[in-house]
Amino acid sequence: MSQSPTRLWIKNPLGIFTANDLDAGGGLVVSDGKIVELVPSGGQPSAPAAVFDASGHVVLPGLINTHHHFYQTLTRAWGPVANAPLFPWLQNLYPVWARLTPRSLELAVQVALAELLLSGCTTAADHHYLFPDGMEDAIDIEVAAVRAMGMRATLTRGSMTLGEDDGGLPPRTTVQSPEAILSDSERLIRKYHETGDGAVVQIALAPCSPFSVTKEIMAESAAMAERFDVRLHTHLAETIDEEDFCQSMFGLRTVDYLESVGWLGNRTWLGHGIHFNDEEIARLGAAGTAVAHCPTSNMRLASGTARVLELEAAGVPVGLGVDGSASNDASNMILEARQALYLQRLRYGASVPVERALGWATRGSAAVLGRSDIGQLAPGLQADLALFKPDELRFSGSHDPVAALLLCGADRADRVMVGGAWRVVEGTIPGLDVAGLIAEHSAAARKLVAG
Ligand SMILES: [Zn+2]
Repeated sequence: MSQSPTRLWIKNPLGIFTANDLDAGGGLVVSDGKIVELVPSGGQPSAPAAVFDASGHVVLPGLINTHHHFYQTLTRAWGPVANAPLFPWLQNLYPVWARLTPRSLELAVQVALAELLLSGCTTAADHHYLFPDGMEDAIDIEVAAVRAMGMRATLTRGSMTLGEDDGGLPPRTTVQSPEAILSDSERLIRKYHETGDGAVVQIALAPCSPFSVTKEIMAESAAMAERFDVRLHTHLAETIDEEDFCQSMFGLRTVDYLESVGWLGNRTWLGHGIHFNDEEIARLGAAGTAVAHCPTSNMRLASGTARVLELEAAGVPVGLGVDGSASNDASNMILEARQALYLQRLRYGASVPVERALGWATRGSAAVLGRSDIGQLAPGLQADLALFKPDELRFSGSHDPVAALLLCGADRADRVMVGGAWRVVEGTIPGLDVAGLIAEHSAAARKLVAG
């Protein structure tokens, strides 16, 4: 006789945010990697369960990051671009990034994932578009690091094809041929892309941006994504410089450009999505094209403010992204939700609810990545949870425990569960030598910049 799987009751939390209308005031029950039951306030589970006392914790669905460049943790707060806007920021960084090595990438990914996980993030998207000689296995390295950390990820096979000599922004040494990009993309999809509930690794295709790729690779990537049923990702409408580039290079505004290459659909999610007019927002909404809102990066590079409430009203799925660590310069999802709340309040007023920002970081981000098995607390969904313990000085005197996470500036989860397994316990990642990782990663970062 098979034994029934262990049931764990996350009991009577101090606060809980389900990202839907369901009542889970009494907590939730986890079994076999999934949420099997929500317990209403004052209620009991329907069957016996082991107990985790959550009376000191605020429980959220695991946070989901929809836009990042893990490798950039090696170039955080780099002096020469500390005060630069996007285009000169990129032009100064490309030659540094071109020196990336497999080991330095591996360390960078470990650092980014550990930071994300400790901030309550359980699923992360990464946009990796640098494949200089020797870096052919970049995505393979990322897959191994994600699995080792016990998180979920959508890893995007990025690409750059439009070098400086062809009117693009990146130097020649960082661009690849369309043939090399497409054959590697197909290899990665076949080897790693998982489908269905509980997927750990998913692959998406991600030509970098209008100013670093040709229209051909955009169109060919869209065709391949359709063929293999994977998602498409790129940067779009991040800055006015980019809009000007699209006008002069292609004679098109950004959304017209997107449509011209077959990307205006619900398979696509866009990094940033700031500079859209009303008509473009309506078209994106009708198409179901999603946006990864990256408030910290947008403020850091002074790129602009995404029109998030109007995008959502038009039907655009909106999630949050910390963006790369050369423009954030942190990988902290709970702090990103706070930034999103405050930036959007500047645009729309103080009535933007705290819960709406938490919704972007959870349910919204899941929709952006095309997933229905994560991002909310509900029976049948994956047991991906972030538990915060508001017992630090910064929370003293706070009243609403859920609101306090963003308003008082929570920056670290006490416990994180992914697929029913605890990956963060008492604010640490069991088995990870953080001091050793920092030492090695810092050395790699210094070496990369020194050249
Ligand atoms: Zn980005």
